[in-house]
Amino acid sequence: MSQELLEALLAGDAPVFHPNTGQEVASGEEIILSPSASAGLEAPRFCQLCGRRMVVQVRPDGWDARCSRHGEVDSVYLGRR
Ligand SMILES: [Zn+2]
Repeated sequence: MSQELLEALLAGDAPVFHPNTGQEVASGEEIILSPSASAGLEAPRFCQLCGRRMVVQVRPDGWDARCSRHGEVDSVYLGRR
């Protein structure tokens, strides 16, 4: 499975689509996430690369989110629990 989304997050790439709303982000526009989302506590709901709605599972110790095209991200990989 693709690891593109995980790689983009780890690299700190600017999202193309807003992870909370799925709307396309205009270039140069600043993304404002809720405090819990920016702290990695809240799972993204949309793939930031393609804007697809992701399959999200929230666990007691974190979350994982999967885009059918860009792969799976687990909050553990982001270094936060
Ligand atoms: Zn995607």
